[in-house]
Amino acid sequence: MEEKLYYDIDVEKLIEERTEELIDLASKLISFPNVSPPGRNSGEVQNFIENYLKNLDAEIIRWETFKGDPNIVAVMHGTHPQKHKSLVLNTHVDVAEVGDNSQWSFDPFKPFVKDGRLFGRGASDMKAALASYLLIMKLLKEKDISLGGDLIFHSVTGEEAGEGITFEAVQRGPKADFAIVGDISDFKLQYGQGGVITGWITVQSPKTYHDGVRSKMIHAGGGLFAASAVEKMVKIIQGLQDLERHWAVVKSYPGFAPGSNTINPAVIEGGRHAAFVADKCSLWLTVHFYPNENYELVSKEIEEHILNVAKADPWLKENPPLFRWGGKSMLEDRGEVFPSLELNRDHEGLKLLENIHGEIVGSPPVVDMSPTVTDAGWLAEAGIPTVIYGPGELGEAHSVDESISVKNLVDYTKVIFKFILEWCNAQKI
Ligand SMILES: [Zn+2]
Repeated sequence: MEEKLYYDIDVEKLIEERTEELIDLASKLISFPNVSPPGRNSGEVQNFIENYLKNLDAEIIRWETFKGDPNIVAVMHGTHPQKHKSLVLNTHVDVAEVGDNSQWSFDPFKPFVKDGRLFGRGASDMKAALASYLLIMKLLKEKDISLGGDLIFHSVTGEEAGEGITFEAVQRGPKADFAIVGDISDFKLQYGQGGVITGWITVQSPKTYHDGVRSKMIHAGGGLFAASAVEKMVKIIQGLQDLERHWAVVKSYPGFAPGSNTINPAVIEGGRHAAFVADKCSLWLTVHFYPNENYELVSKEIEEHILNVAKADPWLKENPPLFRWGGKSMLEDRGEVFPSLELNRDHEGLKLLENIHGEIVGSPPVVDMSPTVTDAGWLAEAGIPTVIYGPGELGEAHSVDESISVKNLVDYTKVIFKFILEWCNAQKI
């Protein structure tokens, strides 16, 4: 017989009673200024979270991939983990930089509530959702509610810098049957996201020439087989534009505007000094691809196309461009990857969440695609069916005077709490 120990809990009433505590917890988290960039400043906020979790008898796994940015996975072990379904709740603890805070009408790290909204850096992206998960775990312990399956909580760093720490969290902690990423989704259920990969294309001359030699390499009779790397990069950029247009014409994905799969030549660096012919030029590009594509294939497609472009140029043919894709971190090696996410629309976790949201909020949720990228792609990459579902608002993320709707946060907490009770007590098939 399936144990259903939770039926005597009135989740909605309980969360209503604890709303003030939820806001206080979210405010406490917002008060830590662990902005990224620069990052490497999450020790204090993670200590606070670790202490909170220790009081709940959760198993805690803590590690640092980059010094100064500890990460936490906490596991509330189920009573029958082989029999019941497990769940990952994924959050990132880092927040976007504030920059010039003179534009803010208040101190970004002194949160407050006004007109039904909680204000502060990270309110929407995504410390309020983090508070919601922590409070639920506390209530599970306080009310002595046992779950059949494991409940696994991630508080990772490095999301803002594309460090992919969520992938490591899955390797270090238990896997799960389903995952919810509480990142900004405008309180919608998002069952897919496009992916992003950044890359560098470099054109390099084997020799460096003085500016005075230029005429010999570009005019009839000059006799010097050489080129400016800056000028050759123009051909590469044109090639990228051709491919971008081709992709926009032939590729599409439901829920995405045509041509969302862009190739952005974002940054260019080249030449050494006006007294020389440019011997090196590097282009930093950002590539967006659809949920049904992956970064390995997309980067391979670009490489093949650009190498063909190079073959049509006498100098580039002999001096083909070099490629470097992705990277560990925007902060370490100026590169990042966000894998795409594609969840089956009929996935039972998604259906259950949809039902509970409708029940609590009083109207069915919007179910669509994320227009941005989140760590959900890393959970998918690790083989966990994942949905993006958070109370934060995309328009508020990274913005001046960031805030979140308190009502949405409270409703969100009720939905997640109910979902945990149902999902982690359901039998594995
Ligand atoms: Zn976020």
